[in-house]
This record gives sequence, C-alpha cells and structure tokens, in this order.
Amino acid sequence: MAKKQFKAESKRLLEMMINSIYTQREIFLRELISNASDAVDKIYYRALTDEQLVFNKEDYYIKVTADKANRTLTISDTGIGMTKEDLENNLGIIAKSGSLAFKKENEAQDGHNIIGQFGVGFYSAFMVADVVTVTSRAVGSEEAYKWESTGAEGYTIEAAEKATVGTEIVLKIKPNTEDDQYDEFLEQYRLKAIIKKYSDFIRYPIKMDISGS
Ligand code: ADP
Ligand code: MG
Repeated sequence: MAKKQFKAESKRLLEMMINSIYTQREIFLRELISNASDAVDKIYYRALTDEQLVFNKEDYYIKVTADKANRTLTISDTGIGMTKEDLENNLGIIAKSGSLAFKKENEAQDGHNIIGQFGVGFYSAFMVADVVTVTSRAVGSEEAYKWESTGAEGYTIEAAEKATVGTEIVLKIKPNTEDDQYDEFLEQYRLKAIIKKYSDFIRYPIKMDISGS
C-alpha cells in the first residue's frame, strides 16, 4: 500500500512551536545569529575554492541594529545571501532544515553548531515580531529580493534593492500587552546580554547599533 504523507497545518505548527518548543522568547536572536553565521561560513567555504571571491576576514560580520522609534530590530550579515528561489525554498517550508543538508554535504568539516537542526530556527522570529522582512542578495547576483511574512498567513516575495551581497532581516517587534513585554528586545543592555549568553562562540564579529530612546 502506498504510504501517505502527513500534512501539517502551518498555522498550528507555528503556534505549537511558538508556545511549546521554545519556552524562552529570547532565543530567537540566537537562531537568527546562528543562521547569519552559517551564511558567512558558506561564503567562506566558497571563497576557498572560487578564485573570483576574495575573502577578507574583516569584511565578514553580523550586525544587530535596534530602532526604538520604529520598533524594529535588524539582523544583517555579509554572508552568501539568498536568491529568489532560495527565499522560496528555505523560508517557505516550515521545519525543513537547510543547514542539516549543508552539514551532510560537508560532513568532513567540523560539526560545531548543530543548533537549529530541526529547521524551526528562523520561525522563532515570530515569537517577538508580528512582521518579518528578509531582504537578500545572493553571491554572484545583481538582483535582490524581499520576502515578507506576518507568520501563519503566508508570505510575499518581490524584487528589491540591496547594494551588497548578504541578508538583512527586519523584525517589527510586537507591541507590549498587559501580559507580555517585548520592549526589552530593543534595549542595548538586554540584546548584549542575550548575545553574550547564546552567541559568544560565534566566530565573526557581532556589531551593534542602537538608536532612539
Ligand atoms: P536551519 O538553520 O536549521 O537550516 P532555519 O529555519 O534556521 O533552519 O533556516 C532555514 C534556512 O534559511 C537556512 O538553512 C538557510 O538556507 C536559510 N537562511 C536563513 N537565514 C539566512 C541568512 N541570514 N542567510 C542565508 N540563508 C539563510
Ligand atoms: Mg538555523
């Protein structure tokens, strides 16, 4: 008898993930920084074999920018970037782990950072944000694309402008409610502490830029 695939409803899956898998909201930053670091690793490995790419270590970093006035938190990287198809394939399928596939392909390399193996990493952003916008330009491409989602309702992809290769993820931080506070994710001291706690081992510099009051 032919085996049938289970179908998971993405909205329920997201809610489940948000409410039970991750008990601590702050780990969204660990997941996004881990993805940024993976993306920089990928361009680094590419540069080892591609003579067209010159790898200057100081050109590669992760940046965390908070804008309190606009309630946005931005995580950007100078990594490998994503094409339109990558955005579709990597961010459009919940619980599909791309880095797991990458790690299998590169099994000989060191196996550090297995975080996010289950492929729900990126979606943890929706624990603290009600809109997530990913603008990315892939290495070797002149084009950039913008992926945007409010979570369970799906996503849009459109052409965008981006001067440099890499990815920029903008989180529109949720408003505070009586029960839940989100302001802390726009505070420098708090972001610094979260980065120190979970991302201290990241081998690329994590720069910070906090504005507003
Ligand atoms: P995982 O990291 O386990 O693959 P995630 O949900 O964290 O799962 O991320 C899904 C995929 O989206 C990644 O595997 C990667 O292909 C892509 N991705 C996410 N963030 C970035 C980024 N900053 N740069 C490039 N690709 C990214
Ligand atoms: Mg990840």
